[in-house]
Amino acid sequence: MDLSKRITGLTGDGDDGWGIFIKARRMKAAGKPVLELTIGEHDDRTEQIILDKMHASASGGHTGYAMVPGTDALRETVAKRIEERTGVPTSIDNILITPGGQSALFAAHSAVCDPGDAAMYIDPYYATYPGTIRGVGAVPVPVQTRSSLDFQPQVDDLEAGLTPQVNSLMINSPNNPTGVVYSRETLENITGFAKKHDLWLISDEVYDTQIWEGEHISPRALPDMKDRTLVIGSMSKSHAMTGSRCGWICAPEGVIANLITLATHTTYGVAGFIQDAAKFALEQGVDFEEKVAAPFRRRREIAKRLMKGQNAVKLIPAGGAMYLMLDIRATGLSGEDFAEGLLDQELIAVMPGESFGAASSGHIRVAMTIPDDQFEDAFARLLKYAAEK
Ligand code: PLP
Repeated sequence: MDLSKRITGLTGDGDDGWGIFIKARRMKAAGKPVLELTIGEHDDRTEQIILDKMHASASGGHTGYAMVPGTDALRETVAKRIEERTGVPTSIDNILITPGGQSALFAAHSAVCDPGDAAMYIDPYYATYPGTIRGVGAVPVPVQTRSSLDFQPQVDDLEAGLTPQVNSLMINSPNNPTGVVYSRETLENITGFAKKHDLWLISDEVYDTQIWEGEHISPRALPDMKDRTLVIGSMSKSHAMTGSRCGWICAPEGVIANLITLATHTTYGVAGFIQDAAKFALEQGVDFEEKVAAPFRRRREIAKRLMKGQNAVKLIPAGGAMYLMLDIRATGLSGEDFAEGLLDQELIAVMPGESFGAASSGHIRVAMTIPDDQFEDAFARLLKYAAEK
């Protein structure tokens, strides 16, 4: 008996780009002291005060089925946070709580794409994007950005990728994997393009609290965008709650009403004690979010200091997220060969740019997710390895 084409074809060519990561984990399991600069996971765990709240909520009985759209209390907290930060009127009817940002990405595409529709997204991209789009039966359409233009999307490239089947565009700023924060000009161009061609805009903002330079602008707040924008949020990166699986979609009321029906037939919501902990975590405010983000800000400075006076690798000027994107083309190696060699020779694991699409080939992504002293050592060795190529 055959499985569905939708499920067997999720990763397209069968490669989900995680080969180096899996190899590094195997080497580690075999006892090798591999330093992992691969996935977007904080080295600091979820703060004890959040866990205490989670425990108190579960012990207090919030372990049954929770409200499918999310508890009113958490939806209100998320709506208030978005309204305060963007100025766009937002109520609980604009919010669906989801099991993490990933499930929100899937739900968002379910809401706006029919089978056979085409969905645009920006290359380089978070590794799950094309599979998420295929998962709803739509056709993924990558739009390449250019290293030479700091990976800021250009209208000409968006126009060139457009076909009559396209009805949505997904963007992600601050960006994984490049760390690039889209400028106001870029976002005005993107939103102008979405309006001109009557497209839905899916804005993945899960790194909105990790801004090192510039400002985070949510495109939902730009003129005439709130009725065509679905914003993806998550507790994973902002509050080091990756394992709690708690995120949201902020969208027009009519979209949320339909997504609640989808949630009823798929996830059936998020655990109540997780939602209570998420609400508590959000109530800790901006200072708490800055504390969670601080290690990445520090490590970025360490990397910039170490890079001075060398030219084997070039840092993509990026203002956010927990990653550094390095242009390693001067070494003459592909991202894959560089990453493979670095792992074998130095026991340092990074992600090849090729894992995130054609636009970042010849680059590597470094996740700043190990303690400062280890990060400094690993980054210095990475630079030495590059210089010797
Ligand atoms: N979007 C981007 C750009 C990400 O990098 C990630 C995770 O790494 C996610 C969404 C999904 O995060 P989560 O499902 O943990 O909220």
